Amino acid sequence: MNTQELCPLCGEGHVTLQVEQVENEYKGQKALLPQHFKQCNHCGSDFAGAAEAKLNKRALMAWRKQVDGLLTGREITALRTQYKLTQAQAAQLFGGGPVAFSKYENDDVAQSEAMDTLLRVVRRSAEAFRALLEEKGMPEVSAEVAQTNRPALRLLDTNQYRIERQREELSPHYNPRAFRTFKSTEDTVWKN
Ligand SMILES: [Zn+2]
Repeated sequence: MNTQELCPLCGEGHVTLQVEQVENEYKGQKALLPQHFKQCNHCGSDFAGAAEAKLNKRALMAWRKQVDGLLTGREITALRTQYKLTQAQAAQLFGGGPVAFSKYENDDVAQSEAMDTLLRVVRRSAEAFRALLEEKGMPEVSAEVAQTNRPALRLLDTNQYRIERQREELSPHYNPRAFRTFKSTEDTVWKN
């Protein structure tokens, strides 16, 4: 794809957008992650502009969240839409500041372990969700959820619950209990 954008380095060539799979390592795990960059057809220079840097940072953050046993941005979006919450309502309910959920869901920021735990508990139980709504004094959302959320009481199906738990335990990328024992101060570096 030719962007018709002039190369800022040589001023003569045009740059095209490129993606490569690059190996990353984090806490002893390796993964191939997409690396976006621009390349000049004249001088051959490659570099990442602001947009590419953002995409690269998000891909890296999403993967690190998985390694750390935190919910990914997509999982948080799924949880929020499961309960028919706007991002603003989610922030009001769970905390984290007005734009917190936009940042979590775009993988710009990793949620704290405490936030992650709260989100998991609510994801697992509509009962916990309603209790939290009461606690935070958000009855208008509560009334709506009481209507719409009844079929989502998945945990009453204990067999399905057992199967999902087994799947979690077996998945190498999705075992928060195992990874949390290796948590170090290194994590906090990635919280901004
Ligand atoms: Zn150039």
